[in-house]
Amino acid sequence: MFDLTGKIALVTGTSGGLGQGMAVGLAEAGASVVCISSTNSDRTVEEIRKLGGKAEQISADLSDTDALDQVFAQALSFYGGIDILVNNAGIIRRTPAADHARQDWNDVINLNLNTVFFLSQLAGRHMLERGSGKIINIASMLTFQGGINVPGYTAAKHAVAGITKALANEWAGKGVQINAIAPGYMETNNTAPIRSDEQRLQSITDRIPAGRWGTPEDLKGPVVFLASQASDYVNGHVLCVDGGWLAR
Ligand code: NAD
Repeated sequence: MFDLTGKIALVTGTSGGLGQGMAVGLAEAGASVVCISSTNSDRTVEEIRKLGGKAEQISADLSDTDALDQVFAQALSFYGGIDILVNNAGIIRRTPAADHARQDWNDVINLNLNTVFFLSQLAGRHMLERGSGKIINIASMLTFQGGINVPGYTAAKHAVAGITKALANEWAGKGVQINAIAPGYMETNNTAPIRSDEQRLQSITDRIPAGRWGTPEDLKGPVVFLASQASDYVNGHVLCVDGGWLAR
């Protein structure tokens, strides 16, 4: 049920962190993976090929929404289709709400929300035509909570849950499942600034029932589940992978 042999996955933001972990996890389950990264030096493709898997890379700035049609067409061209889309690429800008620059707000909303919807739309059209597909959006604890100093990020991640549900309502009956994963506090570049503050690091760690921060490895199982036949009757769900953070 969890086997992805013969499936083609498109994962955004694979230069490191959670995107890299999920891309490798999907490849380990048998999928061929198209990795989209804003950098040229994406080691994820190399890692997948070393494991004996199939992977290709596209270098693209996904904040350029005018280029998304062309990027998606290129993604389709490698293996002749897309069965799984993981909308992972994201940025965060930290400044108090009163001082939050409009540019920061717009940049975060653009990549973390607009691009997620536009790529879902492109993949959705393709999947609806085929009558099957899986879309997995990356949400956050800030899909449920307000956060501190990250108003644009919180707004975008709340909205990611909204579009996940909205599209699930339209597409669940047509063979396309769209769900989200809400990671808890994970050790990646995204959280490096808060982990470098000893006090903040300790207070967050103390609040996580699992007693540790998550890693990209922790997302492998959940992403394979949502990408596979095992989740065919799961629609519009936001799966928290948070060591119990929200349960507390
Ligand atoms: P990260 O900074 O390590 O990774 C972000 C990825 O997005 C990188 O691969 C980066 O190259 C890519 N990216 C950024 N701007 C891009 C652009 N313009 N075009 C293409 N790619 C671009 O951080 P991460 O923690 O791995 O973040 C991945 C996702 O997980 C993000 O959506 C983030 O919001 C989300 N998330 C992270 C955490 C956490 O604790 N780390 C928690 C919840 C949600």
